[in-house]
Amino acid sequence: MSTDYTTIRWKLMNKPKTLTKKDIVALTDLITEKLGYEAPDKPPKAPKKKKESKGRKQATPKDDPYQEVFKRSPNQGGAITPKYIVIHDSYGSHDGTRAWILDDASNVSYHYLIDSKGNRTQFVADRKRAWHAGKSKWKGKTGLNGTSIGVAFWGNTYERTPNTKEIDSCARKCIYLMKKFNIGIDGILTHAMIAPGRKTDTSPETHEKVLAKVRKLLGD
Ligand SMILES: [Zn+2]
Repeated sequence: MSTDYTTIRWKLMNKPKTLTKKDIVALTDLITEKLGYEAPDKPPKAPKKKKESKGRKQATPKDDPYQEVFKRSPNQGGAITPKYIVIHDSYGSHDGTRAWILDDASNVSYHYLIDSKGNRTQFVADRKRAWHAGKSKWKGKTGLNGTSIGVAFWGNTYERTPNTKEIDSCARKCIYLMKKFNIGIDGILTHAMIAPGRKTDTSPETHEKVLAKVRKLLGD
């Protein structure tokens, strides 16, 4: 599904009133990519806002023992077809990160954030664009926000290794997404891999732990 920017451009120049909501979302996505919206590499400060509700509980596969809630982030764009999973460090505390993603001033979002018990919050639907990758490139294609799902551990994984539950939860979510979108294990990337020289998250040790767990759960 490719966007017909030529037609959108023509409408914009000649008959802007004929722009559909879909056209506007496509234009916004283009601008967002240009602005390089992505997850930051310094600890996010929790905005001083009233406490957000926890979110809506959502179903997970039978063999996934973790709880998952959906709490919509305002920081998101149009439809995507996921081909990759990008693992991040949030650099902040779990709650600070969560508040940051829910704040429309941050221009940041992941699809999923994992807490210390392995429970997850989903902020952006799997088929919608979250703003986590920024200027990025993989296999010759740029702008990974348009083709990937962002999954974050809280904190800095060079300073704290995520515990067994966090790794297990991440691996199970990866497997769910791999099956849903026909992604291979080589499609599980890190922010560092798609933005080398600019980003260092997630630590290779953490990435390898997730991959090892995925392989084990899949029986490879
Ligand atoms: Zn990152």
